[in-house]
Amino acid sequence: MADTIFTRIIKGEIPSHKVYEDAHVFAFLDIAPLSPGHTLVVPKEPAATLDALSDEASAAIGRVLPRICRAVMKETGATAYNILQNNGAEAHQAVFHVHFHVIPKHGASGLGIGWKPQRLDAAAGRDLADRLAAAIGS
Ligand code: AMP
Repeated sequence: MADTIFTRIIKGEIPSHKVYEDAHVFAFLDIAPLSPGHTLVVPKEPAATLDALSDEASAAIGRVLPRICRAVMKETGATAYNILQNNGAEAHQAVFHVHFHVIPKHGASGLGIGWKPQRLDAAAGRDLADRLAAAIGS
């Protein structure tokens, strides 16, 4: 399979504004930021979507993501931010290499969310939760 643009950034074939790198993780500024400080945190493992990511790469992201959030808040002065993680074209994923957006909220700039909650039926919820728990396993 051809490398994604993020794999090419990680390899240094395409320039980026790098903010962090370790053995498993690479982070850089988004080229089309929703707000100043919009950063992408990317596992080096080239999984297309989060559900395909290994436990090891997931743990490496989890270890460093809060530290990157703290740095983005400190250096941009933002006191609020969103983490966005898109999976699949229908969910607005454009680059098929797992990435977490860190998007500071500066007044009106940042992430806009169309949130249309539905009602959770108690019986259907119990059934679904049981099935999910069984699917997740231990
Ligand atoms: P997503 O819709 O979650 O797949 O987001 C992909 C993100 O990658 C977008 O916010 C783009 O602006 C960003 N992006 C695409 N190419 C580059 C690049 N060469 N350098 C930095 N960010 C990029």
